[in-house]
Amino acid sequence: MRCSFCGKNIQKGTGKMYVQKSGKIYRFCSSKCEKNMLVLKRKPKAKKTLKSEE
Ligand SMILES: [Zn+2]
Repeated sequence: MRCSFCGKNIQKGTGKMYVQKSGKIYRFCSSKCEKNMLVLKRKPKAKKTLKSEE
């Protein structure tokens, strides 16, 4: 699986998962990416990856 923010591969057992109320699931390789996306609301660098998944 890949980080929803930076697109980096996340190894099994690492990273964080976040489920929005809408049911959309985000996965982050680090708390830094989590913060960037959810708190600072920055646009993910992994846009291409997200597009193909939607
Ligand atoms: Zn990341």
